Amino acid sequence: MNFKINILDENTINKIAAGEVVERPSSIVKELIENSIDAAASRITIEIEDGGKKLIRVTDNGTGIDSHEVEKAFQRHATSKILNIDDLYNLNSLGFRGEALASIASVSEIEVITKTENDKFGTKLYLSGGSVIKKEPIGCSIGTTIIVKNLFFNTPARRKFLKPSNAETLSITDIINKICVGNPNIKFKYVNNNKIMLTTPGDDNLKNTIRSVYGKNIADNLISISTQNNYFKIYGFVGNNSIYRSNKSMQHIYVNGRYVKTTLILDAISDAYKSILPVNKHAICFLNIQVDPKSIDVNIHPTKLEVKFENENELYKFIKQEIYASLIHSSLIPKFEEHI
Ligand code: ADP
Ligand code: MG
Repeated sequence: MNFKINILDENTINKIAAGEVVERPSSIVKELIENSIDAAASRITIEIEDGGKKLIRVTDNGTGIDSHEVEKAFQRHATSKILNIDDLYNLNSLGFRGEALASIASVSEIEVITKTENDKFGTKLYLSGGSVIKKEPIGCSIGTTIIVKNLFFNTPARRKFLKPSNAETLSITDIINKICVGNPNIKFKYVNNNKIMLTTPGDDNLKNTIRSVYGKNIADNLISISTQNNYFKIYGFVGNNSIYRSNKSMQHIYVNGRYVKTTLILDAISDAYKSILPVNKHAICFLNIQVDPKSIDVNIHPTKLEVKFENENELYKFIKQEIYASLIHSSLIPKFEEHI
């Protein structure tokens, strides 16, 4: 073996990082939609073909990217969202790592069309395997479209690990559903192989959004929850005992607007429902949790699906107790059982 130490080049570094951020097409869809949300878009359209393996296109009417900064957006650690580490604990954006676009670009072919309100013309940029191929002006409206084609064309080993298109589509649909419900103020449209799968009203009404994503039966069997203490504010809906699932896939948790899968919160939900659901069945819920950004750490995993809380025991107790209280309030749990 040769013990010479190599400093990896930028392209190799990006491809390695892409292993964490770009696990599969749905992770790209998540990152692109989150960028559109951070750009204050009120309309976001997601189009996919062949489970995202052939094409992913996300179009928004957000701020756009300045013509002279478009290439920069695809560099590693390039972000407009934070300047230093303190900003991370005062975060009001979903992104901050500045690595999604660089990672995605390193393993695909990309076209970006973007225009800000300051630019007279829009910009179209082509990249392949992370390198800029062409840049040209284009007439377009304010906002950004990012098209990702031929995912993993230059990393065949990773392409081989992708699941069949229908399985990748299911994973994309799931993340889109979760993001739609977390952003009732945004009008989403999701198109799969030229077929419209979903549109949301964008009327800032959580129940209406849940209805458009998951249908009438779920929307009609929800109990509202809205409460706060010194640390947390919780609002949303929890399902009654006529709707449940055999896994936790319908437990929607958003922390300061970010969709997360935090075990602690999932456990608190399970405990609150223990006496009213059949064994091994799991509640359906849509919970928004607002906390002071200083009291959480969102930087514990590249996919940003985990959050660490400063007051995690308080949060566990609060969620369990408040869900329990709303189930009692709606007479699903008899009052005499009240012991928490
Ligand atoms: P991050 O979101 O962590 O900042 P990304 O690699 O996802 O990193 O994006 C890099 C930068 O590109 C963002 O900080 C933002 O300035 C810009 N950008 C990406 N997508 C969009 C978009 N849809 N609209 C406007 N700006 C965008
Ligand atoms: Mg981002």
